[in-house]
Amino acid sequence: MTERKTTKSTTKKTKTASKSTAKNPSSKAPASNQTENLDIKPYEAGKDEEYMSDAQLEHFESVLKTWKAQLQGDAEETKTYIQDESTSLSDINDRATQEEEFALALRTRDRERKLIRKIDKSLADIASGDYGFCQTCGVEIGLRRLEARPTATQCIDCKTLSEMKEKQTWGHA
Ligand SMILES: [Zn+2]
Repeated sequence: MTERKTTKSTTKKTKTASKSTAKNPSSKAPASNQTENLDIKPYEAGKDEEYMSDAQLEHFESVLKTWKAQLQGDAEETKTYIQDESTSLSDINDRATQEEEFALALRTRDRERKLIRKIDKSLADIASGDYGFCQTCGVEIGLRRLEARPTATQCIDCKTLSEMKEKQTWGHA
């Protein structure tokens, strides 16, 4: 009797790993994203969509405006804090801590003000049609970079270069 063995190829892996690799990569925002807590989804450009189309400009306008509103809220808090602290600095006990916090608040206020000015500049650029293009060399700054830094006015190359120059200037000062 010949036993018929149905040769099962055990080496054959029947399981085709059905891992869903189709995870949307664009949903992962870079860590350095300035506006990641704004809860605005990155813009999904269509295939043949023109750079800085009306829809894109609208998107960045809303990003900038939302961001500005948030910063203004923060700035208001910082202002109140500074005012409160200025009047209560008499408490000698934790004066050192207070002064440190006060200095920090002043720096925060400074940063908030600068950012708001930058945002205003970007909003003006949107209105004039300059938004999204490098102010130094004129190339497209790119959606990805703008998504991470909506106030960017230079392409990454020019930005890097001007930062290097800035360092040199400061070094000689
Ligand atoms: Zn450039």
